[in-house]
Amino acid sequence: MPQPTKYRKRIKDLLVSEEYGVPVTIKGWIKTRRGSKKFSFLEINDGSCLENIQVVADGGLPGYGEIEKLSVGCCVRVEGKLVKSPAKGQTVEVHASEVFVYGWSDPDEYPLQKKATSMEFLRQVAHLRPRTNTFGAVFRIRNALAFAIHKFFQERGFIYVHTPIITASDCEGGAEMFQATTLDLDNPPRKDGKVDFTRDFFGKAAKLTVSGQLGAELFAAAMTDVYTFGPTFRAENSQTPRHLAEFWMIEPEMAFCDARENADLAEEFLKYIFRSVLENCRKDVAFLEKRNEVDLTARLKKLVETGFIRITYTEAMRLLKESGKSFEFPPEWGKDLQTEHERYLTEEKFHGPVVVTDFPKEIKAFYMRVNEDGKTVGAMDVLVPGIGEIIGGSQREERLDVLRGRIKELGLREEDYWWYLDIRRFGTVPHSGFGLGFERTVLFATGMHNIRDVIPFPRVPNNAEF
Ligand code: ATP
Ligand code: MN
Repeated sequence: MPQPTKYRKRIKDLLVSEEYGVPVTIKGWIKTRRGSKKFSFLEINDGSCLENIQVVADGGLPGYGEIEKLSVGCCVRVEGKLVKSPAKGQTVEVHASEVFVYGWSDPDEYPLQKKATSMEFLRQVAHLRPRTNTFGAVFRIRNALAFAIHKFFQERGFIYVHTPIITASDCEGGAEMFQATTLDLDNPPRKDGKVDFTRDFFGKAAKLTVSGQLGAELFAAAMTDVYTFGPTFRAENSQTPRHLAEFWMIEPEMAFCDARENADLAEEFLKYIFRSVLENCRKDVAFLEKRNEVDLTARLKKLVETGFIRITYTEAMRLLKESGKSFEFPPEWGKDLQTEHERYLTEEKFHGPVVVTDFPKEIKAFYMRVNEDGKTVGAMDVLVPGIGEIIGGSQREERLDVLRGRIKELGLREEDYWWYLDIRRFGTVPHSGFGLGFERTVLFATGMHNIRDVIPFPRVPNNAEF
């Protein structure tokens, strides 16, 4: 592994080093200090891994009086040498020849002083929580997942495209969208009693995107296999542990791909990324498993090793009705699956991931491909235990006449979709894709219970703080 600078070793690398006696420089934050007039033990962490490295500082060191004052949160540089540790539970430690303090941290004021800090409290100090063991583990796993996602697609020849964040196209699904405007909200220009968006920045109303799909489709119609991985925004007022106003989504889109191949890819994809967490984040997973009281390793292994159940929406509805369970929302053909239904199917009925396909067209978007029966569309939702829906996708309607019919049927305006219809006009192609919610993926892999705790700075109704 290349080192960050020739003057600093990452703790992660030092902990597996056997270069005893070699001079080393480490830099990081104090987790604990204990000791006496004779010597101090410093536990230091730099975020590269869950474990701290132990530094032994002898009472005879110059400036030992300062070392004695070190407390949790202080930032230090330690010069010393690596030695085989006599203590249990660690293989190496550092014997300091110098401890330099970059930054003090007043123990009476440092918010992470107390041991038992609740998740609610830590959300209020989201700017400091990456320094805790829990959030360090969560964000290393998040990082590993992001890397695995790119690796999966790049290994398969997919092209990464960057679809816009600001969209002035009217067709993405209005009510849930955030407005992006430079108009003076106290005194907007008006015309015929309405705000005149022709005088706004883009010459028309603009919003923040809820999905990169439509743009990805345009690229799939040229480059065959593409994917996006970017932020999306939804102004839905859902105060649930599974919804954010700003979240990240991964959206592959494939030409020459039908609904079945789409589901195959989704399954292969999820298995690949969760396998990489099992392989590369063993210690963080083991830590969170205990911390969250979730059988994480078993959960991940099961997903990686067993085939996903595939059922149609119609079958799912039948199973829900036959379950004899009393749901808050009684299952009924034509109604959308609720989280309680999703969790019954994946946690109680099948004990594993379930792909539900072929939903009634009335509850799905205009672009989903109409099936032979004329009543359902080639949609799929992938449900996983503990979360519910993690992926939503479909085969897209590639037949120009059918798509125009759907747009009309739903009271949408064809002129808003001219560019979308163009790819059906010029060399149309059967194609499919799906969207994986990144934070729900991190939830599944970390066993955290609230989606606000798997994104660095959660944006939810009434909260957009650092
Ligand atoms: P749900 O029914 O759970 O609200 P959805 O049907 O609105 O989700 P899609 O539009 O299909 O979701 O989006 C694709 C994926 O994005 C979902 O499967 C989910 O993983 C994720 N997702 C959707 N909305 C949110 C949100 N508000 N916060 C976090 N992730 C989300
Ligand atoms: Mn969905």
